[in-house]
Amino acid sequence: MVGTGEEARNGILIKQAASLEILGRANVIVVDKTGTLTEGKPRLQSVIANSKFKFQNLEKQSPDGKNQLAENEILRIAASLEKGSEHPLAAAIVRAASEWKIELASVEDFQSFTGEGITGTIGGRRIALGNEKLFAARNFLTAETQKPGEDKTKSSIVETFDFNSQISTLDKLRSQGQTVMALSIDGEVAGFLTVADTIKESAKAAIDELRGQKIAVVMMTGDNEKTARFVAEKLGIEKVFADVSPVQKAEKVKQLQAQNKIVAMAGDGVNDAPALAAAVGIAFATGTDVAIESADITLLQPDLRVILRARKLSAATMRNIRQNLFFAFAYNLLGVPIAAGALYPIFGVLLSPMIASAAMTFSSVSVIANALRLRNLKL
Ligand code: ADP
Ligand code: MG
Repeated sequence: MVGTGEEARNGILIKQAASLEILGRANVIVVDKTGTLTEGKPRLQSVIANSKFKFQNLEKQSPDGKNQLAENEILRIAASLEKGSEHPLAAAIVRAASEWKIELASVEDFQSFTGEGITGTIGGRRIALGNEKLFAARNFLTAETQKPGEDKTKSSIVETFDFNSQISTLDKLRSQGQTVMALSIDGEVAGFLTVADTIKESAKAAIDELRGQKIAVVMMTGDNEKTARFVAEKLGIEKVFADVSPVQKAEKVKQLQAQNKIVAMAGDGVNDAPALAAAVGIAFATGTDVAIESADITLLQPDLRVILRARKLSAATMRNIRQNLFFAFAYNLLGVPIAAGALYPIFGVLLSPMIASAAMTFSSVSVIANALRLRNLKL
C-alpha cells in the first residue's frame, strides 16, 4: 500500500500491486514508436501527387505533374477522411488542411483498420488512406492494377502501381524517419502524404539508463521498417520489429515470455492494447483510453524516464516487504517457544501474557513504521 501510494505521488498509477513487483524484475522492455518514443504530434511534411492519376474537378492540370491543385485535392480528401480517426497521424493531416485553408468534404462509410489506415466514400468515390498492409490485405485495388497471381501479402503499393519514379523518393523520405501513407481513389493511387514526428528528448536518456541496468530495449511499431530504423538508430535501439499488426505485437510479447523473459511493454495507441494486456503494460495518461484500460500501470507524464523511477521504488518496496516479514515473524519465533515453556526447565522463565501482547503490538508497529520509511525514499 505504501509502495503503490508512493508511486501515485510520483505520477505512477498502479492498478494491481503485483505489476509493481513484476516491473521491478522485468528484463525486457518493449516500446512502441509513435507517441511513445516520438512526441506523437507529427506534422505533414510533403504531399506527392501521382502524375499519371487523373483528378476529377480540377480546373487545369499542369503538364509537369507538380500540380499544386492536385496536391490540394489529395490533402482535401485525406483530411476529410482523417477527421474520423483518432490516430496521431490523422491529427497531423487535419491540421495541415486547416493551415492550407482547405474546406473538408463529408464522408460516408468511414472505417478504421487499426495499424493499417482508414477507408470511406467521398462524393461516391471509394477512398483508402494508409500503409501497404491496408492495400495488400483489403483488396482496394481494381482488377487491372493488380497483377494476376501476385502474392497479396507481399505486394507493395509502390510496385503494384508502377510508381517507379517515386520509389526512391519515398524510400529516401522513410530513411529520414518520415511515415509514408498512400491515398487511393477508386482503387488507384492518387498520391502519397508523408508525415514526420520528433523524437522525445527524454527518450534517449531513458533508453541509455535502461540499457545500463542490463534491460533489453525492443522497439515495436506498425510503421515501415525504414522509418522505424531511423528512429531506432537515433536512440541506439538495436532490436526493431517493424510492420507489425496489433495482434502481432501481442504475439511478439508472448514469444519473448516463452523465452523466460519478464516483459514490460510501453505504448499509447489502440494498436498497442493487445500487447499491453499480454505484458506488464505501461500506458501514458495522454494515450488512448483503450491503452490505459489494457495497461497495468499508467504514467501521468508521457516520459519513459518515469519507468526508471517506478522500478527503483519497486525494488525498494520488495526489500521493505522482506524486512517486514522479519518483523512479523521474529517476535513470534522468539515469543511463542518462550511462552510454551522452552526456557522454563533451565532458567525458570515464562512469558507473561502482558509482555506477549506488547510484543504482538510491537510486531505490527514495526511493520508499519518500516513500511512508512518508503515515503522518505529519494527517487
Ligand atoms: P505505431 O505502432 O508506430 O504506433 P500504428 O500501428 O498506429 O503505429 O500505425 C502503423 C501504420 O499504419 C502507420 O505508420 C500508418 O502508415 C498506418 N495508419 C494507421 N492509422 C492510420 C490512419 N488513421 N491514417 C493513415 N494511416 C494510418
Ligand atoms: Mg503508438
